[in-house]
Amino acid sequence: MRLDKFICEATELTRNLAKKAIKSGDISCDGVIIKNAAFKVQTDMQICFEGEPIEVIGDRYIMLNKPVDTICSTTDEVYPSVISLLDVIKTDTLHIAGRLDVDTTGLVLITSDGQWSHKVASPKKECGKRYLINVAEELDNELVKQFESGICLKSEPEPLKPAKLEIIDSHTARLTITEGKYHQVKRMFAATGNKVIGLHREAVGKIELDEDLETSEWRYLTDEEVNSIK
Ligand code: URA
Repeated sequence: MRLDKFICEATELTRNLAKKAIKSGDISCDGVIIKNAAFKVQTDMQICFEGEPIEVIGDRYIMLNKPVDTICSTTDEVYPSVISLLDVIKTDTLHIAGRLDVDTTGLVLITSDGQWSHKVASPKKECGKRYLINVAEELDNELVKQFESGICLKSEPEPLKPAKLEIIDSHTARLTITEGKYHQVKRMFAATGNKVIGLHREAVGKIELDEDLETSEWRYLTDEEVNSIK
């Protein structure tokens, strides 16, 4: 990787400021001042900025407890992005692994690792997403079988994959799905003549929303949580 790109990715400096720092002789590679921004950095080199070693930011894996009225994309004219709730550097290298609607709350996973987020979102990987749901109309026990056998959504050619429904009380249920179609949970209940009025994601695969996280709070995932996504 070029030296200016390396500095830019590993620190808060923009590409232009990284180039200036290199030109001014602030950057050394294995103890030698390098003034050429195109210098090729090798993985085992120690790069220092004003004599201090630069720690390379590796891939980042974050869980956030999403509040309502935030969105899971980077641009919107009305609502702020969940990424704006993170007080970390280099947010432009982060993306959301499996989006939630503006009015859905709960577990959002944010990462810089595209392969990892693919595993979270791809229906082929069958990574379960568990939701706590409140509905407007009374729940019927028959729904458990209906969801288990794969219901059909309006304008979808194929029935959905089996989904696990656990009815908690007349208007509350837990649902685990392995796909992530547009508004899927809301459309599933709409297909049965009901309406979702509250939707909260509790878990993605084996990653449970940390109950110590207040709404809008976040933390880095543990290695065990990261590696649980296969
Ligand atoms: N299904 C929905 O309908 N909305 C979400 O935010 C997530 C799943």
